[in-house]
Order: sequence, then C-alpha cells, then structure tokens
Amino acid sequence: IQKHLADVYGVQGDLQLLAAERDKNVRIQSANGTLLLKITSESSEVLEAQALALQHVERVNAELPLPRVLPALGGSHIVELEFAGRLYPTMLLTWLEGDVLAEAQPPYQNWRKLGQLVGTLNKALRGFVHHAIAQRHLVWDVMRADELLPFVEGLQPVWCAIAKDHLTRFRDQLKPSLKAQRAQIIHGDVHPRNCLVADGELSGIIDFGDMVHGPLILDVVAMLSDGLHEEPDASKLFAETVHGFNAAVPLEEDEVDCIVELVKVRLLAAALIAHAQQQRGIATTETISVYGLPALAALERLLGQEAKLTEVCRRAVGLNARSSAPMLDRRKAAMGAKPLLFYDRPLHMLRGQGVWLHASDGRRYLDCYNNVAHVGHAHPRVAEAVSRQMHTLNTNTRYLTEQSVAYAEALKATLDPSLDTVIFVNSGSEANDVAWRMANAWTGKRGALCMDFAYHGVTMAADLLSPSNYPAGKWHAPHVRQLVAPDVYRGPFDTSQPDVGERYAQLSESAIMELHAAGCGLSIAIMDSAFMTNGILDAPAGYVSGVLRRVHEAGGLFIADEVQSGFGRMGSHMWGHQRHGVLPDFVTIGKPVGNGYPIGAIVTRSEILERFVEETGPFFSTFGGGNAACAAGLAVLDVMQEEGLQESAKSTGAFFIKLLQNIMQRHEIIGDVRGAGLAIGVELVMDRKTKAPARAETARLVNMMRAAGVLIGSDGKHGNVLKLRPPLVFNTDHAKQVAEILDNQLAKL
Ligand code: PMP
Repeated sequence: IQKHLADVYGVQGDLQLLAAERDKNVRIQSANGTLLLKITSESSEVLEAQALALQHVERVNAELPLPRVLPALGGSHIVELEFAGRLYPTMLLTWLEGDVLAEAQPPYQNWRKLGQLVGTLNKALRGFVHHAIAQRHLVWDVMRADELLPFVEGLQPVWCAIAKDHLTRFRDQLKPSLKAQRAQIIHGDVHPRNCLVADGELSGIIDFGDMVHGPLILDVVAMLSDGLHEEPDASKLFAETVHGFNAAVPLEEDEVDCIVELVKVRLLAAALIAHAQQQRGIATTETISVYGLPALAALERLLGQEAKLTEVCRRAVGLNARSSAPMLDRRKAAMGAKPLLFYDRPLHMLRGQGVWLHASDGRRYLDCYNNVAHVGHAHPRVAEAVSRQMHTLNTNTRYLTEQSVAYAEALKATLDPSLDTVIFVNSGSEANDVAWRMANAWTGKRGALCMDFAYHGVTMAADLLSPSNYPAGKWHAPHVRQLVAPDVYRGPFDTSQPDVGERYAQLSESAIMELHAAGCGLSIAIMDSAFMTNGILDAPAGYVSGVLRRVHEAGGLFIADEVQSGFGRMGSHMWGHQRHGVLPDFVTIGKPVGNGYPIGAIVTRSEILERFVEETGPFFSTFGGGNAACAAGLAVLDVMQEEGLQESAKSTGAFFIKLLQNIMQRHEIIGDVRGAGLAIGVELVMDRKTKAPARAETARLVNMMRAAGVLIGSDGKHGNVLKLRPPLVFNTDHAKQVAEILDNQLAKL
C-alpha cells in the first residue's frame, strides 16, 4: 500500500487500517494532511460511480460536508492495486475531521439537523445516474429484503414468525407499491457510524459504498432504523428526522405512510444478514454487535407502536392524522353509532388504482369485491371526462344536452331495439322505484314479485322488493310476494331433475295467484340477473323465461335489474338478461355505470313512458342525466370497448373458476363453486352431505383474506357464500394471487 500510494498518488505517510464491512479503508497521515485510501473488492466501475457521485454532489452543492476525490498522478480517480495476485480498485479521498456520531461525546442528538443534512444530500444526488449503481445487487438493499426469507428459520421462533410475517407482507404488498414511488440513486446507508460530528456539529457524511437506485424514502428509513440504537425516544427520533428531511425534500404522503413498516423491514434485514453471515463464519464483530441483536431489540420497541409512529411522521410533514381508531370514533360520532362497515378491523381507504386499494395502514389491497369501479379504481379516462365536463357544463335534462343524448343512444345500441327509451335517475334504487311506478301506470295494478332474499335498493318502494334488507322474519310487504330462488345446490329441485328451470318457474304461479287474491294484482316481477344476494346462483335454463312468460300472461311487466349483472360482468353477454335468453320490459342500471360517478337509468319501451306521463304527469330528476354523469357513462363504455373488458371478464372468470374448483378438491369446506364472468360465488358448508352452512367460518375467512391483503365479501341467505366480484380489469395474474391466498387461508381456517 505504501508503494502504491507513492507510485500512483505521490503520497507518503503513516498508515492505519480502519474497520469496515466490505471495503478496506486506510487512513494516511501525510505531510500534506490526513487522507483516506479506499480499497474495494468490488468492480472498478462501482468505485468509479462513487467518485462520480461525490463529484456530482460537489458540483450541485459544494457546502455539503463530503470527502473530495483526489486524482492520481496520471489524472484518473480509480487506480488498481495489485495484491496477492489480484487487482483491487482504489480511490484517494480527503479526510473529514470528526468522530463518528455513534461515538460522539457528548452524544449528538439533533436528529432534525441530521435529517435535513441527509435530505440535502439526497436532493443533490437527484440528478445523478450511473448504470453500475442502477444495476447493483446489494444484500443490504432494503428493496431486496424479501430475498432473506429463506433465512428466517435461523432466528428464535418468536422472531422467526415476526420476520416471516413482515417480509412476506413486504414482498406481496409494500414492495409492489414502492415501485410506484419516486426513486433515484441514494446514499443507502446513512447511519450513525457514517455520519461525523466535530465540536458538537455535523461535520461529514461518509461511505458511499452502499449507494443503490431505489425509493428515496429509504434514506430516511436507514437513518431511523439505525438511529434507534442512539435515541431512546423513538417518537422524538421519527418526528425530528422526518421533519428535517422534509425541509430539504418535501415528502409525499405515500412515502410518509410507509416509513414505519420499512424501518421494521430494514431492522429485520440487518438481523438476518448478521445471522446468516455468522452462520457462514464471515461476520465481522461489527456486523454482529451492531446489526444482529441490537436490530431485534430496536424492532421490539416499534412493535405495537406503528400507528402512533406513523402519526408522528405525518404530523412532522404537516399531514392530518390518519390512524383508523380516531377515524372510527369520528365516523360514529358524525355518521351514527352503528356504522355498517366491512371487516372486523375496518379499513380507512386513501386511494385506488386499477384493482388495488391503498389504505391508511400503508398497505395495498387486491380488490376482488368492488363492482362500482367497473373499469378499475380511479380510471384516468373517466376522471378526466368528468373533470372536463365539470369545468365546462353540468346541467340537467330540461335542456338539450349532447352528453345525455349521446349516452342514451349508446346505451340503447347495446339492447334489444324494443328497449328504445332511456330515463335517467341517480341510483339503482331509484331506477327500480321509478320502473315499478311506470309498471303500475301501465298495468293499473300494484302487486310485485321479487326473489326471496333479493336486494333492489333503499327507497320506500325498492326496500319492499328487498327481503335481504331485513332480519329473518321481519320483512313484510302486503303487496309483494317472494319467489323461491332457483338454487340448484340446496333448493327443492336440482340439476339431475328434468326441466329443473321450469319446475322452479312453476312455483311463481301460486305467488301470482296470491297477489290476485289479495286484490292488488300483478304489476311487476323483478329479478337481479346475477342472483347476487341469493349467493350468485346459476339459475337453470328455462327458469327466468318461465317466470317471465307467466308474468306476462298475468298482465304484469318484467324488470331485469342489471345493477350487478350489467356492462359485461357476466362475460358472455353485455347484459345478464341476455344470458338468460329473455326480453324484459325494463332494464334498470346503476352502480358500475359511471365507474363511481353516481348515475342510474331505466331503459324501457317508449309506449310505457308515454302511458306513465299521461297518468302521472311529466317526469324529471334533477341530477339524472347530468352532463358530467353521462360523460362518465360514455367514458366507461369507451374504456370497456378499448380494453376488451367484457371478453376479459369471460376468459378471466373461466380461468378463476377453474382455479377455485382445484382448491375445492383440497378443502372439504367448499361445497360449491359457481358463477360466470367476474361474478363468482364459493359456498362454504360444514359438511358436503348435509350442506349445513358454514356462516361463522365464512365471516372469519373474509377477515383473514383482508388481513392477507385481499378484499372479498360474502352473501347468500345463510351468509356462507364468498362473493368474488372484482373490477373488470382483474386479470389472470390477479386471479392466481387470490386463489393462492385463499388456498393458504383455508388451510389455516
Ligand atoms: N339492485 C341491485 C341488484 C343492487 O345490487 C343494488 C345495489 N347494491 C341496487 C339495486 C341499488 O342500487 P343503489 O345502491 O345505487 O341505489
């Protein structure tokens, strides 16, 4: 080394070898002051990248206390040193005065200043790129923490379980969402032994040997995870560090919300690396004493404090509180003490994108449930269409407006020509309510038929058509009769019987007779073409047409409620009733129509609307058919067409059902898998012979799936049918993920 220094750099002096994990650092006391020779076992390209990074930062912000790269006599910054027959790239740097922060006396605890300094460095690195760094594979890179999963078994059992849980969640949920965050080349290892303090002030950041390309928040994460060894008050450390960093680089909400989880992952990675190295006999004393057990001790301090620390971080950057506990209290106080919420641990949702929903716990959830976001959450086409319209004109159908007419034309074009008139309202409930009123005007009667355990909405009229709204035995509607659901899995007739559809349809006759006997006669029969609340039934062939024929014969009209089954969800057809081969008198739509922008509609024959207006006067709904609503509707139809979503629902649904049928072979609790397109039901039973409904298990499984990152629901009279009903952008990869997770959770049920 003496000779190398003299020959290559023209430097002489006393040498001292310093401890480091991978590189060798040599301190040189020369006549011209103190210098540092870095000798690396990595490629010269990587060392070259370090030199270029230091020079880049110096050009951007010369005030940052970083070592300067000194050229060799020949002018280059990287020169190879031959040692024991091998070449080692070297780089000569100026020496920065100070003690490492971890050993500073008195202890250095101004985390805000440190955060700001690291933020300033991070900002200065923003414009730097180097392929050797971008392509680097570094075991310490937090983004690769999940690669340490095979080593968790080496930890004590309690830590093994924690590590497995965290790293699996990291791999499946956090890492994919981190890929959408701001990324750049970062220092990657700003810990208290890489920061210097002189005279009580920060005097340097050293060791750029762990630079990687990654989410910039990882620099904050490194400071915090290692800072925990120095600072007993975790809240203070998090608040001050994040505050300081944010002053230099204003953080985005996603970044802030994942800090605590990432700190835990980094600490686990440190412990696992130390452990693995120890096992292979290659751990340095530093690795073990600094990263091994202390990392787990630091992690222990964070467990159970996650929500609180996330709030601390959020407050530090001026964001509002987000933890779901106070939110639940606020919700109850402002919106009623008995809120209807999904899951035992309600989710506080922040954002959606495609099939993903991002919650306040920093996790993203695979949405296998929401059918309103038909073409995917926050679809930019729909959002832009609505926004543009809101910026231009959003008025009502008492004026001639292009959007309402264009949308009505587009809707009609997807239906039988006899359904030639579109009436706009705001919701599915309203559509059903108004359709019933129209039918009353046409028939002069007011009685109705609905499926047992049907749901058709919340208005006074739609509620009467919704036995599923009520606790068992409480539903009562004198002029409505229930039809026996065509449930071939557990109903009176199954598919082994001939004309099973017709047999179920025949049962409607007595209900019609009862209505006549009660003096109200028959105005309508209404059916959800997906039989969703009944447990997503596969109605047998001939059933719907059999009921419809009897309804028409009795002088009534038929409403196909397409709120669930419309817009290609069932895959084979645009509309659910087309799948059943019937022509209804009304098609009612809602939910997916505007991909979240409220809009509902009734499509019927012009003669029915005319009679209605004659009998009851003109019809007008203030918001129904507003320009923005119809712009949303048009955008949804366009996106469906362009992205081939009906075809995708068909093929993905068939693929998904096959996966679920496979799982059924392994789990006795699955009694039936059924459905079409992306409306799929999985019925759970205690015993395949008795078919006793597994209601409690279904509820538990839905919550377990949520904990595992997948959102599903349940339905059916016995609450024992898993409801899988995702946005139509759900693809076969998503189906595989859900099936795998479902398989695992069923094994644990
Ligand atoms: N009909 C069916 C079949 C539904 O599923 C729903 C809503 N879930 C409605 C009607 C009522 O629609 P809205 O909530 O828009 O009033």
